[in-house]
Amino acid sequence: MKVTVFGIGYVGLVQAAVLAEVGHDVVCIDVDQAKVDNLKKGNIPIYEPGLTPLVTSNFEAGRLSFTTDAKAGVEHGDLIFIAVGTPPDEDGSADLKYVLTVAQTVAEYMQSHKIIINKSTVPVGTADKVKARVTETLNSASKSVTFDVVSNPEFLKEGAAVSDCMRPDRIILGVESDTAEDKLRELYSPFNRNHDKVITMDIRSAELTKYAANCMLATKISFMNEIANLAELFGADIEHVRHGIGSDPRIGYQFIYPGCGYGGSCFPKDVQALVRSANKVGYTARVLESVEAVNYQQKEKLFEYIMRHFNNDVKGKTVALWGLSFKPNTDDMREASSRVLMEKLWDAGATVQAYDPEAMEETQRIYGDRDDLRLMGTKESALNQADFLVICTEWQVFRAPDFELIKSKLSNPLIFDGRNLFEPKRMADYGLQYYAIGRGLSV
Ligand code: NAD
Repeated sequence: MKVTVFGIGYVGLVQAAVLAEVGHDVVCIDVDQAKVDNLKKGNIPIYEPGLTPLVTSNFEAGRLSFTTDAKAGVEHGDLIFIAVGTPPDEDGSADLKYVLTVAQTVAEYMQSHKIIINKSTVPVGTADKVKARVTETLNSASKSVTFDVVSNPEFLKEGAAVSDCMRPDRIILGVESDTAEDKLRELYSPFNRNHDKVITMDIRSAELTKYAANCMLATKISFMNEIANLAELFGADIEHVRHGIGSDPRIGYQFIYPGCGYGGSCFPKDVQALVRSANKVGYTARVLESVEAVNYQQKEKLFEYIMRHFNNDVKGKTVALWGLSFKPNTDDMREASSRVLMEKLWDAGATVQAYDPEAMEETQRIYGDRDDLRLMGTKESALNQADFLVICTEWQVFRAPDFELIKSKLSNPLIFDGRNLFEPKRMADYGLQYYAIGRGLSV
C-alpha cells in the first residue's frame, strides 16, 4: 500500500521502516533538511536497537524514501500518517502546532481521497481540529476532495521500538468510517496474524486510551517512589516491599521499580497534558497532579543524598556519572533524571565526568563544550580522579562492574545509585559506602 509518514522521529522513522519491511511503499517527510540528507546517506539520527539495518535495507530496496518535499509526499500516499512532535507549551498543554501544520499541508496538496492517520499523542478532540483545518483549507482553495481522519496512537517503547512495532500488543484504531477501518486493517494485517490485536473504538476514546496508558505507567512509578521514600524514613527496604507486593497478580512485578524519577519524551509531557486537558473541562485530576509532583521531587533525590553526605558542599568535587539517557537502550535525553542532577551539581560547583553507552553525542549537543562536563570513553575512565560515583541509568553494562576497581579509583569509596542495581550488604562487604533509593539512608 502507498503510505506517507510526516515526521521522521522516534515514532515516524520506526513505523515507516517496519511498514516498508513488510512490503508497503513508504515515503517519509520531514522539515529537517539535515535529517533527510543524513538518512539518504545511511546515517540514522537516533539509536534504536535493530533500526539501522531495517532502514538501510528498505531504503536500498526502494520501499523507503526520505524527502522534505511535502507535495510529492502527499501525492504519494493514500494513507498519510502524522507522527510529528506534540511538545508541552508554556502551561503544559500539548502544543498542536506541528500536527495542525501537517493537516494543512496535506489539505493544500491533496487531489484525491486521503486517510489521515494521527499517530502523535494528542489531546481528546484533536481529530476534530485536524478535520476542521483540512476542511477549511480545502474550502478556501475551492477543492472538493474527501478524506477520513483516524486516531491510531503509538505504544512503542524507546529502546524496544522495532520489536514493539513488529509485534504490537495492540493496534488501537479510533475510526468513524468502515472504509478507513478496512484500509487500516489491511495495512496492519502483517502484524496481526497470531491473533486479532486490532481494537476499534470511537476517535475520542482512542485519543484518551494513549494518555490513560502512559498516565497509568507513570502512576505506578510515582507510587513506588513514594513508598520508597516512606521505606527510607521508616527504616524498611523498598526492594523487599517490591517483591512482597509484586507477588500479588493484581499488582504484578512489572513497572514497580523505585528510582530517581521517570523522564523521556512521553510520561512527563503526557501526564502534564492530561492534567491541563482535565482543567479545561472543569476537572482537577488530583492523582495525576500528585504523580507529576512526586516525580519532580524524585529527580532531585540523588542530589539531596549527595548534599547531605557532603554537608552541602561539593564545590570542586569531581563526580563520576554512569548513565545519561532517560532509560537504557536509547540515546534520548529528553527530561532525563541525569540532566536535573548534572545541572544541580554544576550550580553547586562540581565537575561531572560522565559515561553513557549511547547518549554522549546527544549530551554534547545539548550542553556543548563546558569545563565542568567531561564525556569519557568508558565507564572505567569516568572514575579517573573522581571523588564518588553516581548511577542514573540502569544500562546492562553497569550491573556487574569491578567493585575493587571502583573502590581503588574513587577518592571516596562511595556510590549513589539511582536505580538500585546492587545489594547494600555486598557493597558493605566491598568496603563501599552505598546510597540507593528507599533502602536505608546509607549502609
Ligand atoms: P520526534 O521529536 O523524535 O520527531 C518528530 C519529527 O517531526 C521531527 O523530526 C520534526 O522535524 C518533524 N516535524 C515537525 N514538524 C513537521 C512538519 N510540519 N512536517 C514534517 N515533519 C515535521 O518525536 P517522537 O518522539 O517521534 O514523537 C512523535 C509523537 O509520537 C509525539 O506526539 C509523541 O508524544 C508520540 N509518541 C512518542 C513515543 C516515543 O517513545 N518517542 C511513543 C509513542 C508516542
